[in-house]
Amino acid sequence: MVAAVRVHELGGPEVLTYEQVEVGEPGPGEIRLKQRASGVNYIDTYFRTGLYPAPRPFILGNEGAGDVTAVGPGVTHVKVGDRVAYVNPLGGYSEERLLPADRAVNLPDAISHTQAAGMMLKGMTAQYLLRRTFKVEKGSTILIHAAAGGVGLIVCQWANLLGATVIGTAGSPEKAELARQHGAHHTILYREEDFAARVKEITRGALCDVVYDGVGKDVFSASLDCLRPLGMYVNFGNASGPVPPFPLLLLTQKGSLFATRPTLNTHIVKRDDLLAISSDLFEVVSSGAVKIPVHHTYKLRDAAQAHRDLEGRKTTGSLVLEP
Ligand code: NDP
Repeated sequence: MVAAVRVHELGGPEVLTYEQVEVGEPGPGEIRLKQRASGVNYIDTYFRTGLYPAPRPFILGNEGAGDVTAVGPGVTHVKVGDRVAYVNPLGGYSEERLLPADRAVNLPDAISHTQAAGMMLKGMTAQYLLRRTFKVEKGSTILIHAAAGGVGLIVCQWANLLGATVIGTAGSPEKAELARQHGAHHTILYREEDFAARVKEITRGALCDVVYDGVGKDVFSASLDCLRPLGMYVNFGNASGPVPPFPLLLLTQKGSLFATRPTLNTHIVKRDDLLAISSDLFEVVSSGAVKIPVHHTYKLRDAAQAHRDLEGRKTTGSLVLEP
């Protein structure tokens, strides 16, 4: 038996139950992993509340890193003792777990388990947002909401590296300062300021090529006003709630905008894509060009506190659980 955090009933952080679970031996195509660190992500709160459904009871958690302790029949590319990391499927908040081997990615020596647990989901998301969803280039102007968050701080650094002008919104002056330290050229305190007006001012009316929005409901409408004609609105999360339904004609009125609602899962269905995206991430992190700010480490049993802090907007960068 090993310790894990399970959800039996949907609800607030209090439904996270720290208990003992059976792991079992890996079946065909599976590996068993002793987890050294597991990532905490905003998506975990969507599963906890039921916004994203999962059959109950389930072990929460979509990201982790550890050592392979057993491999099932037919597994060839991973062996016992390998250091690996993954995103999905659910089951990250546990000391040990089974994992489909084709989801495991070998970790370079330069990347620690804790770093990996703080970046697989958030960093690969930054990769597909910046390199695949809208290809950011030298001279692009981007707006990233919640710029001091887990995904936000990685996007700020990586977009800056690509040569973009980076505008970030943040919930406090301290968070704004952090975003600037991580590559944002301009920051906006969106709880106090009219961020669309500020974007207009900062860009001298040129507006942004792309808006990356993980906040959703509260910022959707004004985000469209931050885009130049034919610009792209990318909603990739719901920290303030999902974007409400809107008439498609709104995109015409705002300047023939493009809008998309992607998820990392679609981008990494094929193992080749998983390897390409993760290796791109490993490269920028190993070179030191992008740092993974793991600002909060909790014991696995304190997962509920991690959720309270994340939803209470008290955190910056990545949150990691350790056994
Ligand atoms: P963050 O660390 O960014 O935490 C969320 C942040 O959102 C808060 O710190 C806060 O920053 C901001 N926020 C704005 N309004 C609210 C609100 N009402 N309640 C709580 N927070 C609010 O989380 P993650 O880095 O884990 O994830 C960022 C977003 O990216 C999430 O929406 C997540 O679901 C999404 N995501 C999507 C993926 C995809 O493939 N589609 C993959 C990975 C993440 P501030 O105080 O500065 O406003």
